[in-house]
Amino acid sequence: MSALASLARRFSTLSSRSVIRSAPGSMSGRRHVSVSARSSGGGSSFGMAASAQAVSEVSERLLASKPGVETALNLGFREISCEYITEYGCYGVLYEHVKTGAQLMSLICDDENKTFGVVLRTPPANSTGIPHILEHSVLCGSKKYPIKEPFVELLKGSMQTFLNAFTYPDRTCYPVASTNVADFYNLVDVYLDAVFFPNCVNDKSTFEQEGWHVELDDAAKPEDAIYKGVVYNEMKGVYSNPDSVLGRDLQQAVYPDNTYGVDSGGDPKEILNLTFEEFQDFHAKFYHPTNARFWFYGDDDPTKRLEILSEALATFDKRTDIESKVAQQKLWTDGPKQLRKKYAAGADEGPDGSKSYVAMQWLLNDDKLDLDTELALGFLDHLMLGTVSAPLRKKLLDSKLGEALTASGIEDELMQPGFSVGLKGVKAENMDKVEPLVMEELRRLASEGFDEKSVEASMNTIEFALRENNTGRFPRGLSLMLRSMTSWLYDRDPFTPLRFEEPLQKLKARIDAGEDVWRPLIQKYLLDNSHKVTLFLEPDMDLAKQTEEEEKERVKSEMTKLSSDELAKVKENTELLKKKQETPDSPEALKCVPSLSVADIEKEAKKLPIDIRTDGLPEGAKIITHDIFTNDIVYAEILLPLRGVPKDLIPLVPLFSRCIFNVGTSDESLLELQQRIGSKTGGISASVFTSDVKGEEEAASYLMVRGKCTKSQAPDLFAIAQDALFKCKVDDADRITQMVLESKAGYESSIVAAGHRFASSRLHAMENTEAGWLGDSMGGLGGLFYNRELAKSLTDGGDEAFAEVSAKLEQIRQAILGSHGAIVNMTGDAALLSEVTPLAEDVLTSLPANGAPSCDWAERTPLEAGNELLTVPTQVNYVAKAINLYKGGYDLHGASYVVSKQLNVTWLWDRVRVSGGAYGGFCDFDTHSGLLTYASYRDPNLLKTIDIYDGTPGHLAGEEVMEMDAESLDKAVVGTIGDIDSYQLPDSKGYSSLMRYLLKVNDEKRQLRRDEILSTSKEDFPKFGEAIKQAHEKVGGYVVAVCSADAAKKAKEERPELNFNIKSIM
Ligand SMILES: [Zn+2]
Repeated sequence: MSALASLARRFSTLSSRSVIRSAPGSMSGRRHVSVSARSSGGGSSFGMAASAQAVSEVSERLLASKPGVETALNLGFREISCEYITEYGCYGVLYEHVKTGAQLMSLICDDENKTFGVVLRTPPANSTGIPHILEHSVLCGSKKYPIKEPFVELLKGSMQTFLNAFTYPDRTCYPVASTNVADFYNLVDVYLDAVFFPNCVNDKSTFEQEGWHVELDDAAKPEDAIYKGVVYNEMKGVYSNPDSVLGRDLQQAVYPDNTYGVDSGGDPKEILNLTFEEFQDFHAKFYHPTNARFWFYGDDDPTKRLEILSEALATFDKRTDIESKVAQQKLWTDGPKQLRKKYAAGADEGPDGSKSYVAMQWLLNDDKLDLDTELALGFLDHLMLGTVSAPLRKKLLDSKLGEALTASGIEDELMQPGFSVGLKGVKAENMDKVEPLVMEELRRLASEGFDEKSVEASMNTIEFALRENNTGRFPRGLSLMLRSMTSWLYDRDPFTPLRFEEPLQKLKARIDAGEDVWRPLIQKYLLDNSHKVTLFLEPDMDLAKQTEEEEKERVKSEMTKLSSDELAKVKENTELLKKKQETPDSPEALKCVPSLSVADIEKEAKKLPIDIRTDGLPEGAKIITHDIFTNDIVYAEILLPLRGVPKDLIPLVPLFSRCIFNVGTSDESLLELQQRIGSKTGGISASVFTSDVKGEEEAASYLMVRGKCTKSQAPDLFAIAQDALFKCKVDDADRITQMVLESKAGYESSIVAAGHRFASSRLHAMENTEAGWLGDSMGGLGGLFYNRELAKSLTDGGDEAFAEVSAKLEQIRQAILGSHGAIVNMTGDAALLSEVTPLAEDVLTSLPANGAPSCDWAERTPLEAGNELLTVPTQVNYVAKAINLYKGGYDLHGASYVVSKQLNVTWLWDRVRVSGGAYGGFCDFDTHSGLLTYASYRDPNLLKTIDIYDGTPGHLAGEEVMEMDAESLDKAVVGTIGDIDSYQLPDSKGYSSLMRYLLKVNDEKRQLRRDEILSTSKEDFPKFGEAIKQAHEKVGGYVVAVCSADAAKKAKEERPELNFNIKSIM
């Protein structure tokens, strides 16, 4: 539905406090190239619905724990309404805090992953990024927690399952979650104090650190001055990414008259205009309980929630002067409009290249839509764009006007809904053809409508997703909060967005009655709606350099205005700020942030169920099952070893994996296959998995098909997987060429948005292990180069070139399809598993027993190890360095987990982020390969960051670590265990258990590591530092950075001894 449609794009125009990065271990080690079919479904007969009796038992028990009306009033809260939300098995109670007018939603349920959030309405009036900088700053010390960063203390020592903060275009959210109740209360208290009593409003240095300041090291050299700040750099990174430039430009053009017409995240140029006084005023204006919405969710005591808030809000009174309502954008009568803009492109992209973007956005209504319409539009979105065979998506890709879709779909999280659709990778001469094509297809759909099977497939896809409510690593309570807020924030009913059952049934009834639901929607909201902007975004090869020069000019001209006394002050300020940033809080001060103690931690490593079966199966095949309650949903993986694929074909494996569900089979067209997937499963996709296995030469490497469905759909799920694997049409030239262009475009955007991943993967590849080579060839730089060549040969080479590729894809299929080494992995409860196991047996016996023989991968061309600078058009750098500790003689010890986590939240956070000004700086110790990889994210520095990495052993042997007291050590251990024991939904438990099996991490090893973690001592820190130092001396360490051409040139000149090899990759 609507919420589903927007989930995927949730982070597009959203800024968050800390880098949302992958879990430790996945940064350099395991690479998971995911190729999703974006399709799914589930019959109308869901096995997931609980019985009516069970529902009433649960609801009665939950209701009994709700505080009485009197009790609530005594604590200062008036109960406004109370409803049982059947959809999520929880009671929702809406309160008003009488004294301040603050509102609270208290959701009582059985979920142990407790969630709290406070959301403030913070509509900005300009693009100076105040809400975003404030979001970063309030977590830098408060009244009860007067230390540098309580947020980081929580990252260090909490069992949190979620800790971050988000800035939306009109609101700021502060959510936390934990499964441990004492820990949960600690998190809530720190966040409440941060939001309402932050020190940053009285202390300009936080504003300078998180927002912006001038850094000047030598008063006699004002020309060396630069602008710095965490948000400033974060946003420079955002503005270097054409996809986000496009999203921002469109949004601002569609809403010229209200708050959505400015950038709440901050335009780097505008950020520099922001004053400390404006920043203070903004907090005073909006950060008040009267303007706040509070959220509690989970199995904690509901009365205690009222007590906590009552105390936190005690000193506030109601205010009537807060104007935070989002003003309406009136619908145009003089549209549609057009807009031409430029983005910073790399040197390789000539003006004739296919590098332009064309996208359209509509404003759908001048107010919030009612839920029925919103739901119907969500379906329409899925029908038009949601699958690879959806007509609007297909029309655009088939046209060959562009390489991939961009900015496409419904946006319904804001007050007024929008819809956008566009193409990237468009040639200059085709730019004018995109819009007419979109309009033509919309007119066709408005007149012909959609076929019944597609509607059925969309219905099942959306219904399955709503009922499964699989929020991945995101706590369910938080996902509900964000959904509720789409109505509540605009003074509407917070319950409405959570109740999908009734509108869904209504919609189904309308469809069943033969009503034409979709055509009138297309007519009214798109065709007859002139509030539309078409954006032409063109590459400009000089823009990156120009922006950089303007920035330099700006700081230079500011500095020349200053007297020598004033310059001395700037220098002094730089020193003061650095000193403050680099002086750690005293252990005494840090005690203010409460933490659990090691004594509270479970000593035994959590085990996950696993059962491995080989009897009765073809030789070398296995069925692995995990007996976990999944509410009658089957989660299944089919793994086929890559070992039989010749080494030269390895880079083509991701393309083969995309083909499986995205081209159709010899019996079914793509549309038919997609419809079958949509109506008979909860989703199915194929991807490639590779990883080092500790102590072994051979990597784990598989093609993996992952799917889910209800119990009754299981035969369909396995049949679809088999049909697609055996019969997918690897000879569909048009579709396969399209996919190659799409993945090339995907590579190119992610290298600018996430350069650290490419740099890390390159370093892993320099190890010349199997996993390093596989990862690079199928998802790293090797993959990018290969894809580019492939795209070129397919577009220039015609039928002959394609025939060659097609033959290779067929060869890959033959090499992969074999029962030896194949695994079917399934998660569900015992009864469910015994029912579906015969299906898994069928899959394994259907595979050829004498599959391809193992290939020799050893004789591949090794990648030369060395320091590399990979240049792309960007305003920020991504700097990585890796050292292999195992090669240096290090034996894995559990303390390494504690030390590397501690490095992330102290040394690297303080130096790379806080004083360095990068958005993120972290390290990852891959225990499988032994590779310790440092990486920075949206970093203004390059060489300085390398120096910080190299300073790590010194830091670990230094004063700061030596003076660490027992409590800080405890905190580090607790935080490490918190990461290891992180909360998982049933499907990820089954998947983790499979991973442990594949990577040969058994329960004994895990218990040994846990024991070592729990008994980590201070001495383990310098010991680990020594291991880094020794490895560095013995086997060396290499640097790979993704940066601008200028930064590369400068770095090479400054450090000739590093022998940087500069490669332009974009
Ligand atoms: Zn941020």
